[in-house]
Amino acid sequence: MKLYNTATRTKEDFTPKDPKRVRAYICGPTVYNYAQIGNLKTYVTEDVILRALRFLGYGTYVVMNITDIEDKIIRESKKAGESRHEFTEKFLQAFLEDVDHLGIERPDHIVRITDYIDEMRIMIQSLLDSGHAYLADGSIYYRIANFSDYGKFACLNPEHMHAGVRVHADEYEKESIGDFALWKWYEPEEDGDNVWHLEFTIDGKTVSVPGRPGWHIECSAVNEHFFESEIDIHFGGVDLVFPHHQNEIAQTEAYTGKQFARYWIHSAHLLVDGKKMSKSAGNFYTLRDLFAKLADVGERNICRAFRLMVIETRYREPFNFTFDRVRASVSTLSGFDEAVRRLGAYTPETEGVRSEFRDAVQDAMGRFVATLEDDIATPEALSVVHEFVRFLNVEIDARRLQSGEKRAVLDFLRSVDAVFGIFDFSLLDAVEIPEEILDLARRRDSARGEKDFARSDALRDEITARGYRVIDDRSGTRVEPI
Ligand SMILES: [Zn+2]
Repeated sequence: MKLYNTATRTKEDFTPKDPKRVRAYICGPTVYNYAQIGNLKTYVTEDVILRALRFLGYGTYVVMNITDIEDKIIRESKKAGESRHEFTEKFLQAFLEDVDHLGIERPDHIVRITDYIDEMRIMIQSLLDSGHAYLADGSIYYRIANFSDYGKFACLNPEHMHAGVRVHADEYEKESIGDFALWKWYEPEEDGDNVWHLEFTIDGKTVSVPGRPGWHIECSAVNEHFFESEIDIHFGGVDLVFPHHQNEIAQTEAYTGKQFARYWIHSAHLLVDGKKMSKSAGNFYTLRDLFAKLADVGERNICRAFRLMVIETRYREPFNFTFDRVRASVSTLSGFDEAVRRLGAYTPETEGVRSEFRDAVQDAMGRFVATLEDDIATPEALSVVHEFVRFLNVEIDARRLQSGEKRAVLDFLRSVDAVFGIFDFSLLDAVEIPEEILDLARRRDSARGEKDFARSDALRDEITARGYRVIDDRSGTRVEPI
């Protein structure tokens, strides 16, 4: 299998240290607000990649951090009149809800970084001892001049070098403009649960350095705790390449003297209507915003459509979000749903499996695997599935499916969905609704869409009179026998 490694800018053979336990780390969210869809796109991408690895036979062990101390958290929790812990807990729970809504399989560990202050202290002390860090004006900085590979990871791309100019404009006193804070001095009004009173040994003397962690040391410390700083895959959004991931490498590798991550996988940006998403541009959305703006689509369908949209795009290519695209994806999904429903309702008339049918399923599976093994080429994997569903519909139309074939189709679809997470297999047990009732339900839907409630109520009554009920819930509108 091949994966594109940001560290080398090439597609490489994937050779984890232990294929039975691929150690992966995900830079998680900073919990001061609801997650925006750009970040959620990154987490869905990572979920699809990890599911693909498991489908291909690897075992995975995955850790994600939650950044629960940071300037914006301090400011916003103060505004809300809550302690940092209370404030971040709310948004941590909201994030986990989003994760579950989106069908993201939870990492083995999702951890608050403030539970790893001691690991940070030990790393920072070691960096001080080896001359990679220094104390200035109450903060401890990383000295990039002493890490000879500094910039190698990020600066191969001139775009990232450019970003470097921007990020270093901060107000702290330091030796070099590129040096970054490992441990930050605190303002007295920030006290409470925002400050840790740590002691360090500097030049043989014990020095008290109250403060809070810098952003980059958090991830290095969590990786040290769970993986002894040696992992197979480090995930993140492409915006984290510099400075965050460059700085993680500098800290960790200066601390351990060995390679930190073997593969770095970055998910490309999300755009909205072809533009960068930002609050000022008025195109900034959370999952809750999508639920509100697309209430008629239903939460479950929005989440499945979002996953489908992620799958339709190569993870390294920009992802363009539009509301029209959500609706188009919902209609694609209803095609898949219809195929599952028809398969469930289908009773084979003969036992057995035709050899050409077995070949067709094996061929589809072989191509599905091959696309995933080529740097997780999900759009190509998806077209294999589309083709297969078309083939399935033809077989059902012709009433050719035999019993073993129905089972083979189900096995194939379930395997595919272990990676994609977009199918609704509950429809296999759905009872077939007569076409005339479905027609009444569709007419009722359009009456509702036109806000003609008198007509939609009348149609509902008619459906009820014929022994069916209409259900409108999170997954949309459906009809069931009474
Ligand atoms: Zn990180």
